[in-house]
Amino acid sequence: MKVLITGGAGFIGSHLSERLVAEGHTVTALDDLSTGRRENLASLAGHNRFGFHEGSVLDPALVQKLTDDADIIFHLAAAVGVKLIMDEPSRSILTNINGTETVLKAALKDNKPVFIASTSEVYGKATKFPFSEDDDLTIGATKNLRWSYASAKQLDEFLALAYAREVGLPAVVLRFFNTTGPRQTGRYGMVLPNFVQAALEGRPLTVHGTGEQSRCFGHVADVVEAMVRLMQTPEARGQVFNVGNDQEVTIRSLAEQVIAATGSSSQIKLVPYSDVYPEGFEDMARRLPDVSKLENAIGFRPRRPLSEIIADIVAEKRAAMAA
Ligand code: UDP
Repeated sequence: MKVLITGGAGFIGSHLSERLVAEGHTVTALDDLSTGRRENLASLAGHNRFGFHEGSVLDPALVQKLTDDADIIFHLAAAVGVKLIMDEPSRSILTNINGTETVLKAALKDNKPVFIASTSEVYGKATKFPFSEDDDLTIGATKNLRWSYASAKQLDEFLALAYAREVGLPAVVLRFFNTTGPRQTGRYGMVLPNFVQAALEGRPLTVHGTGEQSRCFGHVADVVEAMVRLMQTPEARGQVFNVGNDQEVTIRSLAEQVIAATGSSSQIKLVPYSDVYPEGFEDMARRLPDVSKLENAIGFRPRRPLSEIIADIVAEKRAAMAA
């Protein structure tokens, strides 16, 4: 099969590219390298079933051409990471809305199967746990620009589901819950690569707030497995799914586990949110996915434990530091 992956040089996109090429597919990665990196695709350089296009999902002619050449599209290109969203809100909003619009319209031409990446952020401050796909979505006030990301992704979901209903576009929406692993950069705020890097360098691990907020971390390899299976499942079309591990951990405990796993002498430093994020930031206390819909559809759910996720990131960062 010929596969187009937007955001193919990004963290998840590069793992998906490797996986699909290894399975015998022909993959074209489109990426503007704003947050993606060519190094992420180093293992595929020169491969005869892999091609890289530097360009933007905001370029309709390019997206149409690449879509016309593909059998199936994974749309992962987006502005992601709380820090990036807070630092560049208007650009992030437009990228996330217009990019998805462009990809969906290109897919519409020949009704091609299209995967739309969404996020657990869409649940916002919901207080019913675990979060299920049909739950109400409770984002905060517009003055808190963090929620612009959730709002843009909600609109992406609406558009994909609208086309699915109106013209039968085979679109599948997946909400990622704190996906992490090797190649995730800490530059845009993501907690685990930041903690591991700090621990390996003997710097303090900065825990925001009380550290009692909790998350569930899913290994990127598990998430890619779910993505591939979903796109092989006709019943998934026109549907929304959660993907994530459902093992919860507080951020303080996460910091302790990273320190233990690295044997670091680093300390944990609690810092107020106001020291780290600009005005307009609100954190969510807890985020827990219900993954039963996913498991029922594809016979799989992410289960790799946190210890393995931390070990993989530590191994990657140790290797990079030794190089
Ligand atoms: N966090 C932290 N220290 C860091 C980075 C993040 O304590 O260096 C916290 C952040 O405030 C949030 C949690 O870790 O409560 C997860 O943050 P991340 O940005 O990785 O993902 P989010 O779940 O917020 O999208």
